[in-house]
Amino acid sequence: MSRVILFSGGVESAALLSLATKGDTLLMVEPFHGPDVVFFVREKALRLAAHYGLSVEIASFKLPAGVRPTQMWALSRMASLWVSTFKEFTEVWWGRNRDDIKPSMAAEHDRIEDSWKVAHPDVSLLWPVSHLSKAECWELIPQHLRHLVHSCIHVEPCGECGKCQERIGSGIPVSM
Ligand SMILES: [Zn+2]
Repeated sequence: MSRVILFSGGVESAALLSLATKGDTLLMVEPFHGPDVVFFVREKALRLAAHYGLSVEIASFKLPAGVRPTQMWALSRMASLWVSTFKEFTEVWWGRNRDDIKPSMAAEHDRIEDSWKVAHPDVSLLWPVSHLSKAECWELIPQHLRHLVHSCIHVEPCGECGKCQERIGSGIPVSM
């Protein structure tokens, strides 16, 4: 079995690494924020991946800003492209917590899952931490690695953007 783990640098995808095994591939997805942040998150991601002995691929792919369903479709398309190109993968892991899918997005989420099954019947698309809250995902990350987990849209965590607010609302410090 060979997995590709979608990685954005944030809490949920970092939690996935705690469940990964050697040989898995971390597919770094560039955030849609500015190039400084992209570089900063990438450097942290490489250090995290090295700790777990995972190989890293960088998807030069900018997530569309703002609209959540559009982001979800874009991520799913990127994963689809990846497993279509590299046939060794049998699983794709996607980090989302149990509060990420609002009721208004549930139908969209189901459509993404359904279209995935049609396109890739032999590759499982999985959300391994979707039963956990953001705070519980945070707990999965070893303490000495938590400083490598970046959520803010800025290099210096601002405490004000949506990403920082999600952390604050979950009792997670915006920086370590
Ligand atoms: Zn922020």
